[in-house]
Amino acid sequence: MIKAFKRGFTLIELLVVISIIAILASMLLPVLSKAKGAAHKAYCMNNQRQLNLAWLLYAEDHGKMVPNGYVESATLGLQRPWVSAGTHVERFMHTNSQLLTNPSYSAFARGGYVSSANTYKCPADRKATFFQGVNYRGVRSYSLNAFFGWVFPSEVNYGSGYHGYSKPSQLAGMKASDVFTFIDVNSDSICYGGFITKIGSKQFFHIPGAYHNGQGVAAFVDGHVEVLKWKDQRTITNKTILHFEESKGNPDLKWLQAHAAERSTPLPSDAEE
Ligand SMILES: [Zn+2]
Ligand SMILES: [Zn+2]
Repeated sequence: MIKAFKRGFTLIELLVVISIIAILASMLLPVLSKAKGAAHKAYCMNNQRQLNLAWLLYAEDHGKMVPNGYVESATLGLQRPWVSAGTHVERFMHTNSQLLTNPSYSAFARGGYVSSANTYKCPADRKATFFQGVNYRGVRSYSLNAFFGWVFPSEVNYGSGYHGYSKPSQLAGMKASDVFTFIDVNSDSICYGGFITKIGSKQFFHIPGAYHNGQGVAAFVDGHVEVLKWKDQRTITNKTILHFEESKGNPDLKWLQAHAAERSTPLPSDAEE
């Protein structure tokens, strides 16, 4: 008996053990990656919940006026936007977390509403952006609906008959639960702090993110956070896209246009296409 114990495993026995371990691991891996995906989504939703709360608190502290979404701090002086950022050419504006957490560059940092750079980054946003021959990972995954603010960029034609909001209370015809504030943005498309939706256009200006297994996350004026189930493969794209992406008949683009802002004057007809 003692001799039998001493002989150890045969090659066959070892192979059997190894293959059983491999089978167990292969059964476990999909479960683990699914759990990881769910954890990322929950983390992202929590990030946007915090940003939305900061946005609402900022308005409470500033005569109900929301922070600016789009324009860079240089234009606004001390009354700076929620965070600073730049154009696609200014790569340093996208890789420097100081623009999020330094009170000199971010209204959210200056008011003490958000202190950690992690709050601005979706954990599922892992794709490196390739621009002008350089691969880089940005520090921010979210933008703020550009219809909110009090200085609107002149180059942005939001859509005729539509208006921006400087106060959440200015929503008249739409419910606060129907208008988005923060949203996951495609890492190639993200630039300034605002997410621009051109209403009535058949083009995306900014492309939303689809980091969560083809889904995105957005926060809404009333404070709730939702998972956005994109329907069109052109939204769940993996190709590099900056601005003005043609996407005729895309139901996701239509969803964004219907949830970004409301008309100040009714149009004679809704017919398009
Ligand atoms: Zn996300
Ligand atoms: Zn851009």
